[in-house]
Amino acid sequence: MTSEDGMKRKNSTIKRAEKVFTPALHMYYPITVASAKGTHVFTSSGQKYLDFTSGLAVLNIGHNHPRVLEAVRGQLLHLVHTGGIYYNETTVTAAERLVSTTPAGLDMIFFSNSGAEAVEGALKLARHVTGRQGIISFTGAFHGRTLGAVSVTTSSARYRKNYHPLLPSVFQSPYPYCFRCAFRRKPGDCELQCLEYLKDLVERVITPEEVAAVIIEPVLGEGGYFPAPEKFLAGLRELCSAHGILMIADEVQSGVGRTGKWFAVEQSGVVPDIMTVAKGIASGFPLSAVVSTPHLMNKWPPGAHGTTFGGNPVSCAASTATIEAIREEGLLEKSSVTGAAALTRLTEFGDGHPFIGSVRGYGYMIGIEFVKENGEPDGEACTKVLDYCLGKGLILIGCGLERNVVRFIPPLNASANEIEEAIDIVEAGARNLL
Ligand code: PLP
Repeated sequence: MTSEDGMKRKNSTIKRAEKVFTPALHMYYPITVASAKGTHVFTSSGQKYLDFTSGLAVLNIGHNHPRVLEAVRGQLLHLVHTGGIYYNETTVTAAERLVSTTPAGLDMIFFSNSGAEAVEGALKLARHVTGRQGIISFTGAFHGRTLGAVSVTTSSARYRKNYHPLLPSVFQSPYPYCFRCAFRRKPGDCELQCLEYLKDLVERVITPEEVAAVIIEPVLGEGGYFPAPEKFLAGLRELCSAHGILMIADEVQSGVGRTGKWFAVEQSGVVPDIMTVAKGIASGFPLSAVVSTPHLMNKWPPGAHGTTFGGNPVSCAASTATIEAIREEGLLEKSSVTGAAALTRLTEFGDGHPFIGSVRGYGYMIGIEFVKENGEPDGEACTKVLDYCLGKGLILIGCGLERNVVRFIPPLNASANEIEEAIDIVEAGARNLL
């Protein structure tokens, strides 16, 4: 079934959903899922799909991991909510587990519920502790939908349309998306012109001492699945340190093992001042975190930020179980090796395919970019491939401004056979374009 066929044959759940949900709530596919297990989802009519969206990079250890379910069941019997009124053991343990995975020095956290909420918290922390207003983000970035988060989001003007005025004193610099370099330079021979642009911005448009933070996705997510080059991140770190600007790494999509490391910043060895974490942190239960150094966090006084649901004990039980499962099943090591093999296979295939312009990524955060003959983004080709995959029982989603990049984001514990099967299907879908 293609997504188009599906639209024609809407089942009653979808028809009812359309009556009660605003169209702003958009689903990728007209599929109604009744249950899920591991790498698979099952529809109400009994159809089985290999889910390589991981619930949008959330289910890094798959659907309904037994360890997570057991931890959640146990927690449900004791305590489900604290409302920020009192402490509880489970939430403290989850915080300790989380900081055991974060880069050295990032040892203090604030729990909230969603990625956007963590981004809001990070921006507020940066403004509060620096006493500065300016914020710089990167063109193409996605940081969420709330007003602060959407002010630093430029993956598409559609997300910002009709919401102006947004947060003031926010500026953008081009993301180091080398495949489509904003300066038409070639990787390796570009003298990091994008970093020079940023340095210029922080002289001509806003003085460095007015900038609270620069926020960056170490691997561009929604904007096109492109990892920032290590040299760029190192240069950015240097620039921030030189001027007392806080570097925020938004690891909402790239964190918790997605790139074969706990966090994508580890690929470059760069340590940010603040990190945002969500999605994969609790295997589908709502939880996010702002992570930073005790030095900065201790400058954020009581009442400067707050939450009713953040640090929910059930989500926290799921989070601790997720981190333990990743550790005990050796999923970072496994997925960095098998992810690299998948990247090699897809790259070799892409090299021989006229409509695949680039394949890139780390671990199981791989982007396959479709292009027209003239090199322009080809969203139509990408949609055809995604529809082909869906018809073969494989769910994948796209990203990028023209939706021309396939996100290949299986759970880290997908089997070798499942990975091979999925790549076979993607390759067959791409061959169909010829
Ligand atoms: N930051 C990044 C990098 C994301 O990819 C996302 C969501 O895709 C967000 C923030 C927003 O997260 P949420 O949808 O949980 O608010």
